[in-house]
Amino acid sequence: MTHPLVAAVDIGGTKTAVALVRDGAVLARTQAPTPARDGAAAVLDNVAALVRSLGDAPVAVGVGAPGLVDPSTGLLTAATSSISDWSRVDVPAALRARLGLPGVALNDVQAFTLGEAVHGAGRGLPIVIGVAVGTGIGGGVHVAGTLLTGRRGAAGHLGHIPVPQAVGRPCPCGVTGHVEAVAAGPAIAAAYAEHTGDVIALPEVVRRAHRGDATAARVLAEAGAALGTALAGLANALDPDRIVLGGGAAVPELVAAAEPAFAAACMPVLGAVPLVPAALGGDAPLVGAAEAACRGLGLTSDAGRDGGEAGR
Ligand SMILES: [Zn+2]
Repeated sequence: MTHPLVAAVDIGGTKTAVALVRDGAVLARTQAPTPARDGAAAVLDNVAALVRSLGDAPVAVGVGAPGLVDPSTGLLTAATSSISDWSRVDVPAALRARLGLPGVALNDVQAFTLGEAVHGAGRGLPIVIGVAVGTGIGGGVHVAGTLLTGRRGAAGHLGHIPVPQAVGRPCPCGVTGHVEAVAAGPAIAAAYAEHTGDVIALPEVVRRAHRGDATAARVLAEAGAALGTALAGLANALDPDRIVLGGGAAVPELVAAAEPAFAAACMPVLGAVPLVPAALGGDAPLVGAAEAACRGLGLTSDAGRDGGEAGR
């Protein structure tokens, strides 16, 4: 089934990416810095200008954005500090006013999950969990063609699963003991700084581990073990076909440490739930936002069911 051309938007704290997408394939793209300090109206003006700059004629727009989107109202209800004034924003209404297009908005990591579940590493599988490790840890759950958003839009906040490795560690959400507090990129860097006094970012921690720095290797191993433990809890609860792992901080050293902890904590009856890398790279949130736009039009994608390569 061929879907119409839709515009997809991935709003980040530093850059906004926009693409024209059909059936999971990105056909054109552009990006620009997000005017994050100028507030929501400026951010959405920027989105509209980027969509217009791609020409053509999309029939709808899907937006992946930081924050929670309340399923009942479509409003962003919990916002990110990375964009000023980014709360209680009706993104679809704002874009309808600017572009004259129907639209939908969803959490950016839920968009990542939708993209991977329908057109990426989870293609064709009924139960897919997406996990994105970056400055935080987010995720999503896609079951039988439906992305779970939850009562408040918060479904898939995998970073806030308690793990023993994080007991007592403050999490950015305000509670202690969550996996994000030990396994997100900044948390790994912070653990290294605690042990050594050296304040460096995750990529440098990884480089030092490769050069034989035992402390760097240990903090990566401990973070990975915590992540694997959390994902095993999810696997035990949901019995997924596949867990898709992506995000800029999902470095190979972290994933390698997560795998044995994951396998050790999965119930034997599950066997080996595949923990696989994301397939769409940085395009996953765009592809997912486009899929959400199509679903908003009442269209369902059969790309995940036919086993074919339509749109790829
Ligand atoms: Zn938390």
